[in-house]
Amino acid sequence: MLIDNHHRVINYLRLAVTDRCNLRCNYCMPEEGINFAKRDDLFTMEELCKLATIMVSQGIDKIRLTGGEPFVRKDLMVLFRHLASLEGLKDISVTTNATLIGPYIEELKALGIKNINVSLDAINKEVFERITRRNQYEIVHENLIKLISEGFNVRINCIALNQQNIEEIVPLVELTKYYPVSVRFLEEMPFNGGSKTFNHITWDYKTIFNHIQENFEGIEKLESEKTSTSINYKIAGHQGTFGLIPSFSRTFCGSCNRLRISATGDVITCLYGKPRMNLREVLRTENSDSKIQEYILAAIGSRSKTGFEEQQKYKGVFNNSMTSIGG
Ligand code: SAM
Ligand code: SF4
Repeated sequence: MLIDNHHRVINYLRLAVTDRCNLRCNYCMPEEGINFAKRDDLFTMEELCKLATIMVSQGIDKIRLTGGEPFVRKDLMVLFRHLASLEGLKDISVTTNATLIGPYIEELKALGIKNINVSLDAINKEVFERITRRNQYEIVHENLIKLISEGFNVRINCIALNQQNIEEIVPLVELTKYYPVSVRFLEEMPFNGGSKTFNHITWDYKTIFNHIQENFEGIEKLESEKTSTSINYKIAGHQGTFGLIPSFSRTFCGSCNRLRISATGDVITCLYGKPRMNLREVLRTENSDSKIQEYILAAIGSRSKTGFEEQQKYKGVFNNSMTSIGG
């Protein structure tokens, strides 16, 4: 079992499989001039499989694939198949923009992958295209409906963006009336590749909640898992639920069970910090799994207690982009 220096069990790995993406969401990446990693610096599929195996043997029982856009990698299903074969791995999930997932839905279902997070910041086409800077609205809509009707546990993640998509919050909550989905609203974080900086947000989780409460009656708070980052609610008569993720307010650090590994091998113990180390070269040069395990143990043995503490240690952390961290 992996336990950090603040006695938190770390059982959840968020593994970025690429830093590339076919969208350019304006809160995540600049429009141009992005420094993508060199191809050689990205993990190969074999390396990703090996890393997952090692970490599951250390006590990771939940892996979420993320990116960039995970499905940009044409060999992604090789990793899903490998993960599905790992004993001890209880939960395999993916976070996707849902543009490219269509051809893989059937196999994902057959492999027993149930949890799919779809990032969708608007159900209005113009707003969606303005935010993502691409015209992929129709295919996202089609794939989202397919995922829901195939019975996946679909969670829709929407970042509340001041002056961009606030009028989308109510229609997105409205979706939970007709579909058994969980719609979660996240606070914007200042990780966008440096195109925008801020130290304060207008739309924090309390403000989002008040806005929803002004528009819906019969909101009931739900019990959530101790390690959940979302505060969850159900509206009477609705099939689905909605949630709020205080990703900027950071109310959940005390029960953080996550470790992030970027597509180039950076080990990230907190979103608000700098990578603790890089695993890629160790994985490429060392033949023994125990060396990798030692590195992982060292990383989780030096975690900050909270994201605020971590942020104070590292100047310039806000130049990071989510496309390399994986969200
Ligand atoms: N491309 C996939 C997607 O969009 O779902 C996976 C990678 S994306 C970086 C993972 C998550 O990070 C998405 O839900 C996205 O909305 C979120 N994200 C990206 N930039 C963010 C920011 N500045 N603040 C908060 N969340 C952000
Ligand atoms: Fe791509 Fe996801 Fe970032 Fe949007 S949020 S640009 S889809 S990585």
